[in-house]
Amino acid sequence: MIVMAPGAAEEQIKAVTARLETTGVHVLVMPGELTTAIGAIGDPAGVSELGLEGMPGVDRVVPISRPYKLASSELAHHEPTSVHVGGRVVGGGETFALIAGPCTVETREGTLGVAQAVKAAGASMLRGGAFKPRSSPFAFKGMGLAGLELLAEAREATGLPVVTELLDSSHADAVAEVADVVQIGARNMQNYALLEVAGKLGKPVLLKRGLSSTVDELLMSADYVLKEGNEAVILCERGIRTFETATRFTLDLGAIPWLKLHSHLPVVVDPSHAAGDRRLVEPLSRAAAAVGADGVIVEVHEDPEVALCDGPQALYARDFAAYAQSVAAHAALSGKRLA
Ligand code: PEP
Ligand code: MN
Repeated sequence: MIVMAPGAAEEQIKAVTARLETTGVHVLVMPGELTTAIGAIGDPAGVSELGLEGMPGVDRVVPISRPYKLASSELAHHEPTSVHVGGRVVGGGETFALIAGPCTVETREGTLGVAQAVKAAGASMLRGGAFKPRSSPFAFKGMGLAGLELLAEAREATGLPVVTELLDSSHADAVAEVADVVQIGARNMQNYALLEVAGKLGKPVLLKRGLSSTVDELLMSADYVLKEGNEAVILCERGIRTFETATRFTLDLGAIPWLKLHSHLPVVVDPSHAAGDRRLVEPLSRAAAAVGADGVIVEVHEDPEVALCDGPQALYARDFAAYAQSVAAHAALSGKRLA
């Protein structure tokens, strides 16, 4: 990481960039409020031989020793990143995002009904899948394009920005047209080609941790999106595979403060997929707030008994206001108000 001196001239930045490019490293110029930082990702030996410290306008060269680079809090000029979505803020330490909605878009009435209910209770964004990754190829895979249209209608009706999953690069344009935040699902966290596609869409990306991925791997996956010049990445802890089977996944609460220490990116928690049981969703959400999460993404349904996907973990829409109040109170203990 090359940190330019405050007020370094454009030509000086260009000269450093050009010299870096002779070594074949990936170069990323990141203008900050006071200084510009230049990321050089690749073989550190080649870069250290360039004598960059002596170039005009260069303040210092900071080696980043971790396997993840752009997502790292070692990144020289990085304040905690806050992601702005339709007037809502995720990250930055002052707000708590309540992202809520059905697992899957199933019907027009159901989607609009849940959207109205979560909006009334203070949710900041609407979630809902139109393209669903399912363990069995015979399960309901979502409404596809028709589902995206219903999400757009729900946004129109409520003003809530929409978070929806990009499952396959062939849907990228259609998803980007409707999504305010593009979700990359746990199963695709290591689909590196898809991460690059998502990074180019010009929309914030909510990146879920893989079922069996380490936090280092999560941050390296975030690097794939960031290196496309997209700085708006939200990390999501959604539970991992462990020997424990009583819960659907094991919510790794320790990962949240760890990620806040080692990365500048905002972190939200998905208590629904971790729990697999709606009775655990509120306590896990409160815990998420207590360990410093920037928000939760939670599943809600008007009639979970008939949901086509993940009914047992969906909160009843009629219970959502009480849930939101409880979680907001816990977020307030950490100095955060609902986004
Ligand atoms: C989802 O949020 O709809 C989902 C499928 O979650 P995950 O990718 O975490 O399993
Ligand atoms: Mn689900």
